Amino acid sequence: MNSHPVFSAGVCRTADGALALAGHDLRAIAQIYGTPAYLVDVADARARARAYRDAFRSAFDKVGAPADVYYAGKAFLCTAMARLVHDEGLRLDVCSGGELAVARRAGIPGELIGLHGNNKSTDEINAALDYGVGRIVLDSFEEIDRVAAAAAERDVIAPVMIRVKAGVEAHTHEFIATAHEDQKFGFSLTDGQVGEAITRVLEAPNRLRLLGFHSHIGSQIFESDGFRVAAQRLIELQLQVAREHGVQLPELDLGGGFGIAYLPTDDPLAPQDMADQLARIVADACSAAGMPVPRVSVEPGRSIIGPAGMTLYTVGTVKPVRVDDDLVRTYVAVDGGMSDNPRPVLYDAQYYCELADRTSEAAPVLARVVGKHCESGDIVVRDVELPGDVHAGDLIAVGATGAYCRSLASTYNHVPRPPVLAVTKEKVTTWLRRETIDDLLALEGNEQ
Ligand SMILES: *Cc1c(COP(=O)(O)O)cnc(C)c1O
Repeated sequence: MNSHPVFSAGVCRTADGALALAGHDLRAIAQIYGTPAYLVDVADARARARAYRDAFRSAFDKVGAPADVYYAGKAFLCTAMARLVHDEGLRLDVCSGGELAVARRAGIPGELIGLHGNNKSTDEINAALDYGVGRIVLDSFEEIDRVAAAAAERDVIAPVMIRVKAGVEAHTHEFIATAHEDQKFGFSLTDGQVGEAITRVLEAPNRLRLLGFHSHIGSQIFESDGFRVAAQRLIELQLQVAREHGVQLPELDLGGGFGIAYLPTDDPLAPQDMADQLARIVADACSAAGMPVPRVSVEPGRSIIGPAGMTLYTVGTVKPVRVDDDLVRTYVAVDGGMSDNPRPVLYDAQYYCELADRTSEAAPVLARVVGKHCESGDIVVRDVELPGDVHAGDLIAVGATGAYCRSLASTYNHVPRPPVLAVTKEKVTTWLRRETIDDLLALEGNEQ
């Protein structure tokens, strides 16, 4: 059924060779809605959300503790997406007043929302407390004071976690247990900052209620080893709080970062495997410390919406370029690029694509799919084999673009941002409409 693991479960080819999503021919979608367009396989996104919720619940149930899955809204957020994860039993992480406003519009109950950010404004903190968010993850000493002051003004007790630089940095198969401290997030374990933060939070018991510690060790992680080191460090810290302050902290958050397949060769852990491994890690560390297993939360973003999304483009130009005697690279330019997917430019991210309007028997050529922006780094898919007869007017579908594409999109070169179309068997729904040039012009002041 599924033409490729990089695409969502609802993708297959029609009898005449076009790609279809949940039974909708992508040629028809392109005709009706135009390109570029982001498409979301709603059933696939739901299935992923549910799979993470069920996997973490059942895995932690076995070690006698509850577990919560927070969807990291920064991966992709709109009202419909917030409702989708809420329907599937997930909570929601936001990291700005804007993301909180979406959660509010979606009607997500405050207690199911976590607020992140290394520089939350007073307005954002106020909005979060007014909405009754379930937790604010503290990231600086200034913020401890700001949240305490905002709680005092409202005469409430703010539930907080302390974000810790666990000293672990994980990425795909590797992790560094002594990651550099030289980054902006969290309180440092090595120079007494965390201890000072704990003391300050515990000194304001009628304003701040410390739930526990939080760490987020990286992104696109394929193995659980990095989480083991981070979990051990956080649990040691909990033990220290129990000894020094006589307080048993009830919660622990291990962050997100579970990897997905961007390329056919990527082989990420299934949700159940990741959940089982994390449950074992936490249970072992707690039993070594002689502590009960706390309520554990994780915060996947990419692994819920990433594989459920794809981007549909139209080819505008095809340009063979002789690189050297043995190599001709075919530059295939599409009608979007770094404005709708800046990840290749930002992180050298790799993607995979297929011709979406037809199949072809033509011999494959080494192609590079590029955008329409005024940067030579404007690459969509660095290296991919496409049929040698690829031509202007063909449709190209890039897989696994559901996360960190629309949410990171810009209007560079005054190229309006594409729509997000939610596709189910029954219908195609516009989650976010296409931005227009008039939208961009409307931002200009009156006196020109
Ligand atoms: C980005 C982020 C996440 C989500 O990361 P994914 O790679 O999308 O799973 C979770 N928690 C925090 C604190 C983050 O900054």
